[in-house]
Amino acid sequence: MNNENNQKKTWKAGFLSLGLIGGSIAMTFRKKYPDAEIVALNRSPEPLQKALETNVINYGTNVIDDHFSNCDIIFLCGPIGVNIGFLKDIRRYISPSTILTDVGSVKSDIHRAVAADLPEAAFIGGHPMAGSEKSGYDNANDHLIENAYYILTPGPNVPQELIDRYYCLVQSLGALPLILSPSDHDYITAAISHVPHMIAYTLVRLVEESDSPEQYMKLIAAGGFKDITRIASSDPVMWEHICLSNPDNIDKLLESYLCKLQELRSLIKDGKGQELRQLFAQIRDYRNSIQDAPRGPIRKIYDLHCDIIDEAGAIATIATILSTQNVSIKNIGIVHNRTYEEGALHIEFYDEHAVTTAAGLLKKHGYRIYER
Ligand code: NAD
Repeated sequence: MNNENNQKKTWKAGFLSLGLIGGSIAMTFRKKYPDAEIVALNRSPEPLQKALETNVINYGTNVIDDHFSNCDIIFLCGPIGVNIGFLKDIRRYISPSTILTDVGSVKSDIHRAVAADLPEAAFIGGHPMAGSEKSGYDNANDHLIENAYYILTPGPNVPQELIDRYYCLVQSLGALPLILSPSDHDYITAAISHVPHMIAYTLVRLVEESDSPEQYMKLIAAGGFKDITRIASSDPVMWEHICLSNPDNIDKLLESYLCKLQELRSLIKDGKGQELRQLFAQIRDYRNSIQDAPRGPIRKIYDLHCDIIDEAGAIATIATILSTQNVSIKNIGIVHNRTYEEGALHIEFYDEHAVTTAAGLLKKHGYRIYER
């Protein structure tokens, strides 16, 4: 694929909804294409106001109007059902050379809706496999999709030239394009994202319902439990749309998951120690073979724990050591309720490189480090 030929020099891009994902792509677009014309719609005015003030967009509105004419690309960035609702209103503003895309977490439904409502559109579904349990434009940033897989699901009649152009655009925005069919996408994401979210939701519910009136479980629940249930803090509306849009795949994989839980339950009930150990070792090996980078659909946290003595100036000393190598700290704090694998101080960083550098520096200064 020839980057030069497929890369436009100037772009006009439209965004329908400017939340976490729409805002992040718009910010990245502005960073990579300072001369681009970017127009955006959002139902509430605040994100538009902020995006205008920071020059992320050139024009903001709460209705789809003539400003969306002649766009090279239009991103639908609302919840899945909302994106489907946008299709009829955007019809009059798209031309054969407009790439129409979305960022929804499920693809088959929107492809069906496009085939029914807008068959003439050059629709290429898109799904940046990056995100966060936080939502809204205030949490958007210009590096969210960097080094993340960005799945593209081209519709059946889209000219190859437009697929190539979008592919190269994604690369130029710093993400890793991967072309899949809508149905493959929906099965894969059900397994690695949708079902894990359902498991996180039910785990949190299990603890809430099993807790004593004194709420000791809530009090003691620490690092490990919070880690695996972090995604249960995601936006409920978004997850309602995802579940309703991908019910068959989620159902099939949950069925299979329930069988595996039953299997485990029986081994525990029957006291089958050797089988349990074998199973855990096999699972551990597969888990360890999953590469950390590039980014996946569930945001990675770059952090470490280290032991410190509880005395005045202890945190300042660590901050000073890290500053010698210009390592920026995103968050730092004492862990009051430790689980066995953690140190007393928790430090969060912005990227992988910073964690590695920090761990090396602190070890050199005699600190005991706990990395994940
Ligand atoms: P968000 O809550 O940050 O933003 C949603 C946007 O949609 C907001 O601008 C909101 O104003 C708008 N919106 C919501 N309901 C609306 C309605 N009824 N009418 C008009 N506008 C409405 O959500 P997000 O995380 O940016 O998710 C947007 C899309 O991206 C979803 O389709 C989601 O499946 C997909 N996605 C999310 C993630 C993630 O981790 N958050 C990752 C990849 C893809």
